[in-house]
Amino acid sequence: MSDVSNKNVLILGEITDEALDGKTLELLTLGKKLAVDLDEALGVVLMGDSLDPIAQDLAGFGPDNIYKVENSFLSRFNGEIWVDVLEGLITDLKPRIFLASQSYVGTEVVPRLAFRLDCELLTDCIDLKIDPDDASLIKTKAIYGGNVIATFKQKGATQLATVREKAFRPAERGAEQGKIMDFKPDIDESKVKIQSLEVVQEDVVALDKADVIIAGGRGIGSSEGFEALSNLVPLFKESFETVDVGASRPAIDSGWISSNRQIGLTGEKVAPEFYIAVGISGAIQHLAGMSKSKTVIAINNDEESNIFNFADHGVVGDYKDILPAFKKKWSEV
Ligand SMILES: Cc1cc2nc3c(=O)[nH]c(=O)nc-3n(C[C@H](O)[C@H](O)[C@H](O)COP(=O)(O)OP(=O)(O)OC[C@H]3O[C@@H](n4cnc5c(N)ncnc54)[C@H](O)[C@@H]3O)c2cc1C
Repeated sequence: MSDVSNKNVLILGEITDEALDGKTLELLTLGKKLAVDLDEALGVVLMGDSLDPIAQDLAGFGPDNIYKVENSFLSRFNGEIWVDVLEGLITDLKPRIFLASQSYVGTEVVPRLAFRLDCELLTDCIDLKIDPDDASLIKTKAIYGGNVIATFKQKGATQLATVREKAFRPAERGAEQGKIMDFKPDIDESKVKIQSLEVVQEDVVALDKADVIIAGGRGIGSSEGFEALSNLVPLFKESFETVDVGASRPAIDSGWISSNRQIGLTGEKVAPEFYIAVGISGAIQHLAGMSKSKTVIAINNDEESNIFNFADHGVVGDYKDILPAFKKKWSEV
């Protein structure tokens, strides 16, 4: 990709529950601002199956171009296949800037794209601006656990960034209608067969929409411990619609639970009715993801643990002893 020919801003659109994801609307606000400052076009890639209604809807939110990549193999997210398709699209379109949300999809595909395309990437950005002097991209992110705000200027024809949720307001509908174009993906079917087996087993997690989250930390100690947390889900489902299990980063790093369940600064940001923190100390990076919870219940064997400073209700003790009693008590409420 040559430095002179690369033009335009391209966004990776995401679809949730057969509608445009709210994070994509936020990216549209940012993308439009960058495209206007560069006096270039804003494009959005939509990937999936039967995309016409979503593409029509998206057209009213201000992008100049919508690249509709339709294929039945894209109906569910599959990291390997999505990276292949996006690599082809970016190689063809040569955008100056490619943006995705700091979501499960964004964090799965964009680092791999950066490696394959040999492009510079900055993840979890909270702001992006065009330098008026040289039209280069200035990327901003929080570092050292949010204690320092750093700005970066990176070299390269295509700049990649993932953008933190809620850093921008969602785009609003306008009078302009974007142009919808089809992009035929080149899909390696042998990969699809292997990958689709994995997809069937992939669990669907929507922590950001959960009414109750039972979250485990390092104190849980094992994947069996997380099974004990999962066993609480049916109990809460008697009173709440969406109940899920979340985790702190050490629990994920230890491989006790899948990475799409991480809550915190570098994970999901959640705001449930009830957040039950089990064996979690309450580090600032964890609080960054769950501090908007309405009611926090903490179970921890260390009464000095920081989580008790944020909890509405707390129980001190080994979670293995507390959970059965907690289950009994909740059933009586
Ligand atoms: C840049 C950066 C980003 C980060 N992003 C995230 C993020 O997104 N999410 C995140 O969670 N962390 C993140 N971290 C890590 C964060 O700093 C903490 O290390 C982490 O949150 C601590 O997780 P924890 O509370 O599970 O573990 P610990 O701090 O080790 O706490 C374990 C707790 O379990 C208790 N415990 C032990 N055994 C039991 C038992 N049997 N019963 C009951 N309680 C018990 C202990 O008393 C302790 O309080 C990030 C760090 C950095 C530097």
